Amino acid sequence: MIRTRFAPSPTGFLHLGGARTALFSWAYARRHGGVFALRIEDTDVARSTPEAVRAILDGMDWLGLAYDEGPVYQMRRMDRYRAVIADMVERGLAYRCWMSTEELDRLRAEQMAAGHKPRYDGRWRPENAARHAMTPPEGVAPVIRFRNPDTGDVAWDDKVKGRVSFANAELDDLVIARPDGTPTYNFCVVVDDIDMGITHVIRGDDHVNNTPRQINIHRALGYEPPVFAHVPTVLGEDGQKLSKRHGAISVMEYEAAGYLREAMVNFLARLGWAHGDDEVFSPDEFVAWFDLEAINPAASRFNTDKLNWLNQEHMKRLDADELGRRLVPYLGRAGLDVTAGPDPARVAVLLRDRVHTLAEMADAAHYFYATPRPSAERLAEHLNDHNRPAVKGVAEAFADLPWTKEAIGARLKSEAAKHGLKPPQLMMPLRMLVAGTTQTPSLDAVLALIPRETVRSRIAAGLEL
Ligand code: GLU
Repeated sequence: MIRTRFAPSPTGFLHLGGARTALFSWAYARRHGGVFALRIEDTDVARSTPEAVRAILDGMDWLGLAYDEGPVYQMRRMDRYRAVIADMVERGLAYRCWMSTEELDRLRAEQMAAGHKPRYDGRWRPENAARHAMTPPEGVAPVIRFRNPDTGDVAWDDKVKGRVSFANAELDDLVIARPDGTPTYNFCVVVDDIDMGITHVIRGDDHVNNTPRQINIHRALGYEPPVFAHVPTVLGEDGQKLSKRHGAISVMEYEAAGYLREAMVNFLARLGWAHGDDEVFSPDEFVAWFDLEAINPAASRFNTDKLNWLNQEHMKRLDADELGRRLVPYLGRAGLDVTAGPDPARVAVLLRDRVHTLAEMADAAHYFYATPRPSAERLAEHLNDHNRPAVKGVAEAFADLPWTKEAIGARLKSEAAKHGLKPPQLMMPLRMLVAGTTQTPSLDAVLALIPRETVRSRIAAGLEL
């Protein structure tokens, strides 16, 4: 049984890189009928907040990344970590080290002066301490160090990066418990991954350097390490590592901006992964196609134009009623009263080819739900003595018209011809009067969605200006 996990540190919102890691872990479990677990890595108490946990859960919820197990909170597992550490000391897999910070600094300085990489020298390994007859200093609390293998390599076949190998000689004996007994990061991850039965660790490649240490601890505890897949960094549009400088990077900001969950999943999936030439696909298709081997080891770049394009494609794919339902909250946020106008589904279908997000759609839908107030100057740009009689004539001609797009369209054409105008010479002032803007879809379709009397009174009101 495949078991994956997403293990965010709750120190901020769910950003794009984290969301993509979560998406890949989720999809891999789903694809293989496995389990997707959530672990909250909250041991950095100074920086972890309940608000950040909430924000991460909200982001996952919006993207539809439902977890099957958890959340497991590391802070609630302290007793477990302490028990494992005590057992490791008991079994000689770890040992107490009384080296002071000053001594460590001195050793580092010496090693660097000699042109070596700074590295703890294992002096408190029990056999070394015994050899040098070292005795623990009074009143000093020791750290606990993991006894890392001295020789050979630690290697794994990364599903993304291929074979990765580190010489054990490069790794010193990792501190797994601080003087106050609290366990350290790399150690907790291993105990959790073992206890949670994780088979596949899919995470950002900023963790690659932790992996050899984690593998060694895993093995020391008597378990074969999981499969690792380190996914590459997401770069900003400028090619720099994505960071707060890039602005909207919390996934919930994309929700607020009116991107569809389906488009966001599609977009995140394509950051470093591809399935042939398929560009537009649903979350279900993604799950069915997803494979770790197809992840590109090179960093991928964020691209707003692509996200906008995908969002429009997904808006076009969505069933009209569903798109209308998705639009409703954005109409509300734009200060519009949905009950004051047409079925949002009909509005959405009319506008979806012209906008990239639901927020843009709500803005563009303004005149369906509220009376536009074009300024006299704007109006004068389009309404003049030349076309005024035709505009008046249209308002009158609308009085007894079947209120359909076809009938309206035909009448607009015939009225324009009757007054010797080209269709735009009539349509533009009408757009300004009824919609307060010249940027609208086909006028007959727009008018058909607004009640006849509303249309007539807007025209009349404008003509009086
Ligand atoms: N908490 C780590 C992070 O947010 C993830 C650790 C892991 O996946 O092993 O980067």
